[in-house]
Amino acid sequence: MAETTNAFEMAQRQFDHVAELLKLDPQVREILRWPLREFHFRIPVRMDDGSIKVFQGFRVQHNDARGPSKGGIRFHPAETIDTVRALATWMTWKCAVVDIPLGGGKGGVIVDPATLSTSEKERLVRGWVQQMWKNIGPRQDVPAPDVGTTPQMMGWMMDEYSKLVGEYTPGVITGKPVGGGGSLGRTEATGFGVIYTVREAMKHLKLDPTQCLAAVQGFGNVAQYAAIGFTEQLGGKVVCVSYWDREDRTSYTVSKADGIDPRFLMSITDQYGTIDKTKAREAGYTIESGDAWISKDVDVLIPAALEGQINAESVHKISPRVKLIAEGANGPTTPEADEVIKQRGIFLIPDFLCNAGGVTVSYFESVQNDMNFYWPKEEVLAKLDQKMTAAFQAVLELAEKEKVFMRDAAYMVAINRVVKAMELRGWI
Ligand code: NAD
Repeated sequence: MAETTNAFEMAQRQFDHVAELLKLDPQVREILRWPLREFHFRIPVRMDDGSIKVFQGFRVQHNDARGPSKGGIRFHPAETIDTVRALATWMTWKCAVVDIPLGGGKGGVIVDPATLSTSEKERLVRGWVQQMWKNIGPRQDVPAPDVGTTPQMMGWMMDEYSKLVGEYTPGVITGKPVGGGGSLGRTEATGFGVIYTVREAMKHLKLDPTQCLAAVQGFGNVAQYAAIGFTEQLGGKVVCVSYWDREDRTSYTVSKADGIDPRFLMSITDQYGTIDKTKAREAGYTIESGDAWISKDVDVLIPAALEGQINAESVHKISPRVKLIAEGANGPTTPEADEVIKQRGIFLIPDFLCNAGGVTVSYFESVQNDMNFYWPKEEVLAKLDQKMTAAFQAVLELAEKEKVFMRDAAYMVAINRVVKAMELRGWI
């Protein structure tokens, strides 16, 4: 994220703004502005060369009034406690806006996973569980993957937890591999969920997707399936994606004016998201600077990489053609940029609504774990579509009724549900 953007300050500012609109009691605000619990811990790991390296780990449980905390674990070299706090806070709103019975949590480790061998990664994630196992669990807090973590790592974490508690407990972690307690459709869930909301927004805006172009930032899990969904399900064209190039230590935009083929690009992308530039060029793609995606002459922008990407400076590069921004990433737009987007009348699908597909299928995964009965992929995706569409329509309805920005409407729906749960439990 941009160095100047503190994600947690941003999450608090967004909350404060809506708390004001809702005339929320100051004592209730005091509860919701901060996480209920935070864990900071050190994880010593035996490296392959025999040395011991100590990693900094975090887990933040923002609010669990509506059910166990839920949220991914991010492995990133620039991870900070404030990023984890922000992401945990957004998870509370995300679970509430899609109306699944879970609260908000998030975890992290300061590490570049690309610098670790497979066995070092396994020891690191098992170490994370050894530090946290007493405070996570299917009825307490259920982690999942995020940037830099994978289904395989979730499988190891579930195994470590099951060993420590003495019984097979698949519901402690979601995003596990299929066949190891995972749900079909989880891989596609966030990106496809983004597209279900884009489809609904386009209906509302009376846009024909087959005539529309999109630019995507990122080419990881969310961006890949958002690009596939935009082209294959909606029949639109994606003119670029962008990615962080690990070797060159910079970001690039990979473009094709007549539309990229996301499945081809996936076939030349390594496990950390680095696209093979030579093969891309050979196939007729242009390699541009990392920020080129934002100024593309398109109808739809899908930021699906990191926080703070659409900010006071970059927002002015957005083309006049853009009518819709679908926030695949968490916190991609700063409050300053929001003001410009509002003034320009660009329709925005806010992050915690737009990218709620992942947590929704994570919830389906734990439901299937509890039942010990697994649904086919079509059933998972159909249920996901239903949830995302209902959530989008509820937010849109409120936005129109109260004449507020979509982000504010999503916050209003979510905050009201969390406050209601706290009331029903007698917390307030
Ligand atoms: P990922 O690790 O699979 O992909 C991240 C992508 O961002 C990679 O393609 C990487 O190359 C790219 N990237 C990193 N820095 C960049 C930069 N400076 N410029 C351009 N591209 C850059 O992660 P993901 O799971 O796709 O998550 C992306 C975003 O979506 C994050 O904000 C995450 O919190 C959010 N999110 C993910 C899920 C999920 O289910 N995976 C769910 C909800 C929200």
